[in-house]
Amino acid sequence: MSQKRLYDSRKRILVTGGAGFLGSHLIDRLLERGDEVLCVDNLFTGTKRNIEHLHANPRFEFLRHDVTFPLYVEVDEIYNLACPAAPIHYQHDPVQTTKTSVHGAINMLGLAKRLGCRIFQASTSEVYGDPTVHPQREDYWGNVNSVGIRSCYDEGKRCAETLFFDYHRQLGLDIKVARIFNTYGPRMHPNDGRVVSNFIVQALRGQDITIYGDGTQTRSFCYVDDLVEGFLRLMDSPEGFTGPVNLGNPGEFTMIELAEKVIALTNSRSTLSFHPLPQDDPTQRCPDIGLARRALQWEPGVPLDEGLARTVAYFAGIMEVQNA
Ligand code: NAD
Ligand code: UDP
Ligand code: UDP
Repeated sequence: MSQKRLYDSRKRILVTGGAGFLGSHLIDRLLERGDEVLCVDNLFTGTKRNIEHLHANPRFEFLRHDVTFPLYVEVDEIYNLACPAAPIHYQHDPVQTTKTSVHGAINMLGLAKRLGCRIFQASTSEVYGDPTVHPQREDYWGNVNSVGIRSCYDEGKRCAETLFFDYHRQLGLDIKVARIFNTYGPRMHPNDGRVVSNFIVQALRGQDITIYGDGTQTRSFCYVDDLVEGFLRLMDSPEGFTGPVNLGNPGEFTMIELAEKVIALTNSRSTLSFHPLPQDDPTQRCPDIGLARRALQWEPGVPLDEGLARTVAYFAGIMEVQNA
């Protein structure tokens, strides 16, 4: 049975992966609205820098812990975000990536079961693999290679979704599953190899912009503040509305278009250089967000140019500090 505190009516919220890019922004919003937050992270890809501004806040607590091991804490809600998200990060130790998604989900679901509390899963557009249906709606089952170099992430996240829905059906757990499409913004790791961070860092340094393949593959980029608003709306939606729900920005761009925008925003002299396309790299990706619009009254509001400008300002700031 959950040990509720005697004298405090505030919600205590667990965010796994809270020292990462998305998790740290989510925690900012939760603290802003008055919740208490327990951030659990093993700092594999996250950094203390992302949460250092929170340590003076008495409603914030950090616990260094790997979610592949059991966790016994007392909370009212769980956001499960722990998992490396950038391809070079999740391919660095693919076995650990699958363990994080699968064992991590089992442990957090076990925790939610013991506490009888609501649990949110950060799933991904990668469950659609290299999609043959466009744009992707939640009822599309996907086109995923189970034995490729992206499989540890894609199949790990698919298995986590399966676990969430089986804990819901079999044990009545109150679940919320978000399928997140490419998201960008301040606190992305400058060396995470993701396209937005790579292009901005390269442009600011005047280096070649590295286009993989011919650059005609597409992605849809959501600004982090919009995404976090979607997380909160989904988490606070009525019981029984489980998802999965696509959260992303339906604006779709080729990698060449993205590179041109970044070059223009940074006034960079960088030019494009072309490199081989990584194995199983999806050729197109764009969310159908009709469900999120209808059920959550949610849609992203920050256009790509504006979000990129804010992100460029962030990277310019941290590079200035590094060069000082
Ligand atoms: P991130 O790498 O910045 O954050 C992930 C965090 O999880 C890091 O702080 C890392 O240290 C932590 N972590 C990793 N393994 C762990 C473990 N075993 N135990 C405890 N902590 C662990 O990535 P992000 O972009 O913030 O992604 C957060 C979540 O959102 C991930 O689950 C990711 O799959 C999902 N997601 C992100 C995107 C995106 O575009 N950013 C898209 C789809 C899904
Ligand atoms: N678990 C946890 N914290 C808890 C309760 C459970 O980490 O507060 C873990 C525990 O390690 C267990 C897993 O969650 O293996 C799944 O729990 P569940 O109750 O579903 O399964 P069982 O304990 O019966 O294997
Ligand atoms: N990409 C690129 N240059 C880079 C990094 C990535 O052209 O320096 C491409 C990559 O091949 C993919 C797209 O940009 O087609 C998005 O890559 P990212 O790693 O950001 O995300 P994901 O592939 O997981 O959507």
